[in-house]
Amino acid sequence: MTLEDSLVETKTDHQRKLFSIQGDHDGPSIIFIAGMHGNEPSGVRAMQRLAGMIEPLKSSLKGAVHGLTGNIGAVQSGERYLDTDLNRIWSVQRVAEIRQKKFVALERDEAEQVELLQAIDEILASDSGPFYFMDLHTTSSDTIPFVVVNDSLLNRRYTRQYPLPIILGIEEYLDGPLLSYINELGYVAFGFEAGQHEDPNSIDRHLAFARLSIHLCGMLDERLFPVREDAQLLQEASKGVTHFFEIFYRHRIAQGENFAMYPGYVNFQRISLGQQLATSEGRPIYADRNARVFMPLYQTQGSEGFFAIRRIPSIFLKLSILLRNSNADRLLTWLPGVYWASASREALIVDRNVARFFAKQIFHLLGYRSRRRDRDHYIMKNREAASRDEAYTDAPWMG
Ligand SMILES: [Zn+2]
Repeated sequence: MTLEDSLVETKTDHQRKLFSIQGDHDGPSIIFIAGMHGNEPSGVRAMQRLAGMIEPLKSSLKGAVHGLTGNIGAVQSGERYLDTDLNRIWSVQRVAEIRQKKFVALERDEAEQVELLQAIDEILASDSGPFYFMDLHTTSSDTIPFVVVNDSLLNRRYTRQYPLPIILGIEEYLDGPLLSYINELGYVAFGFEAGQHEDPNSIDRHLAFARLSIHLCGMLDERLFPVREDAQLLQEASKGVTHFFEIFYRHRIAQGENFAMYPGYVNFQRISLGQQLATSEGRPIYADRNARVFMPLYQTQGSEGFFAIRRIPSIFLKLSILLRNSNADRLLTWLPGVYWASASREALIVDRNVARFFAKQIFHLLGYRSRRRDRDHYIMKNREAASRDEAYTDAPWMG
């Protein structure tokens, strides 16, 4: 690290706005969010280094690059969060209340949310777009780097450019992550997990990812800002695993549950039927099929014990593009027990028995992700309806 780098760090540590660099030319805006979880300082470090690299290139930069800190208080204390997980409280309702100044933050992390939303809203108001939101994280277990994204064709199309595994469907399992909310607004938004919390490689990967993103969004000429080494670094770190995966299982840790992951699992590790994965209240939990383990929990804070993922065959990926582009979902309401939640036709209400019969897979193919609504029904939301595809028509990756 050079002297210049370390100066940047002391200046900007623990600020909401790590940096904001406006280029001399029109173009998109990337909003990097770092330290959404306070025990994941790698993104903050990488952003400080990135700022020093982009600042001298301002006169050639098309658009703007912003770096925001998520949970400043938690970053300062080195904990995932202080009172409540900042990345689980972004419901549409909550955001509306904050914007209408009707929300009173009772917890410290909620106060962070109010400030962070304000910083995001300021950028949305001042820049012309298109907007890209990228949330920088690390994991408690050792891992290859990967992207997590809500399944819209727009998100898929953008993220498939990275030499990284892409995990779809997290929105069915997590309540209120910031990026699901940003997706509701129709922007490209996704998370990048660089590696293990304390692994110094995570900083390099966050930086390489950020540099490559600036290139993929068409903001700097490659002769001025070469990214070959960045792409190479990510490709090597991901060990050639560059497929699309979907989450099909989550072990949710109940309040007060005594959960322990069986030691030694690494992210993406293959697991086979009958293999012991964890213990809950002293009883073993076994894999019920062959799959890969995803985000095994090896820290005390957090409510997801582990997930299981499987690779999505490329024929399904292609088929779903075809089906979604032809609005085949309009036929779903012909099925018994399936009807529109409202006249705007953005969400379906589906009888749970029907969903069981016509496997959830079909709804997934058509762009729907389900959440439990009540005991007997799912609410299935169409990810395509909100996408602002037209805002990205001129993007280099759309061609
Ligand atoms: Zn995180």
